[in-house]
Amino acid sequence: MVRAAVSRAVGAPASIEELHLAPPHRDEVRVAVAACAVCHSDLMFMDGGWATAFPVVLGHEAAGRVVEVGTGVHDVTVGDRVVVSLIRTCGECLACRRGHDVACTGNAEVDRRSPLTDLAGSPVAQGLGTGAFAEQVVVHRSQVVPIPTGVPAEAAALLGCGVLTGVGAVTNTARVDHGDAVVVIGCGGVGLSAVQGARMAGADPILAIDPLEAKQEAALRLGATHAVEPGDGNAAILERATGGRLADHVFVTTAAPGAFVGATGLLAPMGSLVLVGMPAHGVTVDIDPTALAAANQAILGCKMGTARLAVDVPRLVDHYLGGRLDLNGMVTTTHSLDDIDSAFDEARSGEVIRTVIVFDNTDLGATGDTP
Ligand SMILES: [Zn+2]
Ligand SMILES: [Zn+2]
Repeated sequence: MVRAAVSRAVGAPASIEELHLAPPHRDEVRVAVAACAVCHSDLMFMDGGWATAFPVVLGHEAAGRVVEVGTGVHDVTVGDRVVVSLIRTCGECLACRRGHDVACTGNAEVDRRSPLTDLAGSPVAQGLGTGAFAEQVVVHRSQVVPIPTGVPAEAAALLGCGVLTGVGAVTNTARVDHGDAVVVIGCGGVGLSAVQGARMAGADPILAIDPLEAKQEAALRLGATHAVEPGDGNAAILERATGGRLADHVFVTTAAPGAFVGATGLLAPMGSLVLVGMPAHGVTVDIDPTALAAANQAILGCKMGTARLAVDVPRLVDHYLGGRLDLNGMVTTTHSLDDIDSAFDEARSGEVIRTVIVFDNTDLGATGDTP
C-alpha cells in the first residue's frame, strides 16, 4: 500500500488516499519516491486543458531509490538512487534504434495496465506513465537513470522533465552554437533551464522575456544578459544587443497562447523558432509562410528537449556537480504530500520556479546518504 495524491475529476482538490501498488513485472522497477516536482503538464491534466482518464495519480518529475526490480532489469539494482522520468523507450522500434527516444512507438505493459488500484479495487490511472505524487511508483526500466550521491533529491527530481526539456531544447533540438543570439519567452522551470542551457552553450546575447519581475531577476541570475517583460519594444532591444541582427533561436517555453504571437518577429533570417511549451488542446497560432520561407527560417517542435535519458541525465548531473547548472536555485518551495494542493496553487500562480513535493522517506536522505 502507498499513500498518493489522487485526482478524481477535473478541478477537484487532491484526495490523499491509500492505494494498492502491484509489484514490478518483467522490465519494471519499483522506486521509493523521495521528491517529485510539480510540472505545468500536471496542471493541464487536472485542470482539464488536456484530456486524461480519472481517477489518476499525476507527477512525472521525480527522484528516489530503487526498492525492487522485476525480471529482465539489469541496468539498475536495489538501492540505486535514480531520477524517474515520463520518457519511456522500448529500445526496439525504429525511433529507438535511431536514437529518437521521445518518438518511441513501442508499447510497454504498463501502458495497458496501471499498477495502481484504490481500496474499492477500482483501477487508478498512472499519469504520464509515472504517477509519482505517491510514496512509491512502478515504472518501466527505461524511465529511471542512476545518479550519484551529491545531488539532493529535490534537485535531482527536476532532471526528470523540466530541466531535461529546457536544456535539451537548446542543446539537442536547436543545437545552439557559441555566439548565437537567443531569446527565451517564458521564465518558468523550463524557460530558466533554457537560459542556463544557452549560457552553457556560449550564446550571447540571451534575452529572457517574462511578465513577472521575480522571474526576470531569476533569469539574470541564471545567465540571461537581458531580461524584460513582454512588449512591442523587445525587437528593438534585441536589435541593439545584436547590432541589428535579431535572434538565431527563439524558444517559446510557456503554454500561454499570447507568447507565440510575435515570436517570429524576433527571429533573424536563417533563425529557428523552437516550440517547447504546449498550450491546451485546440489552441492555434497564425504564421506567415511567405515571410518564413523568404527568410529561410525554421519552426522546430520540441518534445521533452529531444532528450535521451541515458545520455542527457548523466550529462546534466555532471554540469550540476561542476557548478555550471544551478538546480537548487530553481526549487522555490517544498511541500509534503498532504499539502500538495498548496503546491498546485503556487505552480498555477506562476510565482514559483519549481515547487517540489518531498516525501517522508527519511532513509532516502535528501543528500543521498545510504541508510
Ligand atoms: Zn513535465
Ligand atoms: Zn521504441
